[in-house]
Amino acid sequence: MFRPISKVGRTCLKRANTRYSQVKLFSTSLDIDNPLSTSVDIYNPTPEHAEIREMVRKFTMAEVEPQAARFDREERFNHELFKKCGDLGLLGLTVPEQYGGTGMDCTAVCAVHEELSASDPAFCLAYLAHSLLFVNNLARNGNEEQKQRFLPDACSGALIGGMGMSEPDYGTDVLGMQTSAKKDGDDYILKGQKYWITNGCVDDHTLGDAFLVYARTGPKSISLFIVEKGMEGFSLGQRIKNKCGMRASNTAELVFDNVRIPKANLVGDEGGALICMMRNLEVERIALGAMSLGIARRSLEEMNRYSKDRVAFKQPLKNHGQIQRFIGNSYAQYMAGRSYTYDVAQRLDLDESGNRLETDGVKLFTTAMGQQVADDAIQVMGGAGYVDSVVERLFRDSRLLRIGGGTDESHHKNIVREIADIDTF
Ligand SMILES: Cc1cc2nc3c(=O)[nH]c(=O)nc-3n(C[C@H](O)[C@H](O)[C@H](O)COP(=O)(O)OP(=O)(O)OC[C@H]3O[C@@H](n4cnc5c(N)ncnc54)[C@H](O)[C@@H]3O)c2cc1C
Repeated sequence: MFRPISKVGRTCLKRANTRYSQVKLFSTSLDIDNPLSTSVDIYNPTPEHAEIREMVRKFTMAEVEPQAARFDREERFNHELFKKCGDLGLLGLTVPEQYGGTGMDCTAVCAVHEELSASDPAFCLAYLAHSLLFVNNLARNGNEEQKQRFLPDACSGALIGGMGMSEPDYGTDVLGMQTSAKKDGDDYILKGQKYWITNGCVDDHTLGDAFLVYARTGPKSISLFIVEKGMEGFSLGQRIKNKCGMRASNTAELVFDNVRIPKANLVGDEGGALICMMRNLEVERIALGAMSLGIARRSLEEMNRYSKDRVAFKQPLKNHGQIQRFIGNSYAQYMAGRSYTYDVAQRLDLDESGNRLETDGVKLFTTAMGQQVADDAIQVMGGAGYVDSVVERLFRDSRLLRIGGGTDESHHKNIVREIADIDTF
């Protein structure tokens, strides 16, 4: 069931192991020296999963953690750090080797998102928008020529991509989208706008490089196009700032003013984009769930550590019953979310759709759980949690995950619809 890591991935792992060999892991349940110890663990079902997780954890400690608070404060995307993810084989994590990828599966996707998000969810969101919404989507749905043309640069980090589905007036109701692509000879003329697009820009004024954009090609027909920076009529409407959280990932409005798109940039068949959208939403939801696991784990670690050191009424905080309730509940909730996420991940085939119920369930549970655990960490840490702390940032970042990639309410509706005909569970 699990895909073996590709030669490209092996080279990246070797490079990372040399570069980060001195980094000590700050917390780990992994027994890296004993590969057999990981073979029965659903979070690291093979030694290769454990290796990827360890590599990303070391990279996160060495390179992601030191910049996270600053880039959040400055509301800036760290493009240089993003390119380093290309060096480590992370940008093409799910892409077959012949296009420059590492060729791994959904469990590896969860491990990478959990580890990055334990330090910097906003950076991880930019990573997700590129590696899954653009790269994985194209790897699964593009034709040979498109994959050869875009994936090697997307895997190396020479190109940064994103995906445009949402519009100012159509979010949850996405199938009502108004952006249109009208046939003109062999080309299409793209007109409209997309809103809330992660990686839409790399700074206040500069567009990202390439996007997968969903557009209406008929009253009941939605198609998918590759739109490239430099195409006439394609521009950055605005960078959307002052977000509650995820401030180190860029969010933008993209404007298409009669952009001529060659037929070569149509992904899949005209009118056939819904299947691409649904298939990619499944892996997106599970990755967003894994991001919440990272937030919960780090918040738990922070509150646990603080409760041992801080003394109140001549006792460490951890001896007070109400504090024990926060920590005990957080641990159990995190472990429940973790088990659900990795259980679904190992059954999710990236080439197929059909996991809507469980990916909705994972995202619904873990994103609320991540937000609650981060909130509880602030409560346990009092003023030290509320002001200028990791948990304060994680709490703000956690909020988006109940909105982006599908709101809580859309998951409720989907789940009720999916289980309507099931009498026994
Ligand atoms: C920081 C950020 C990054 C994003 N990145 C991307 C991206 O890269 N690409 C992209 O395409 N999109 C992106 N999005 C958009 C995101 O997917 C949408 O915000 C989301 O789908 C919700 O749409 P909306 O904001 O228009 O809310 P609305 O759809 O207007 O919903 C508002 C509220 O009404 C509720 N609601 C709506 N319809 C119903 C109903 N029928 N029954 C009950 N309740 C309902 C919703 O659940 C929600 O609570 C991003 C958003 C943000 C904030």
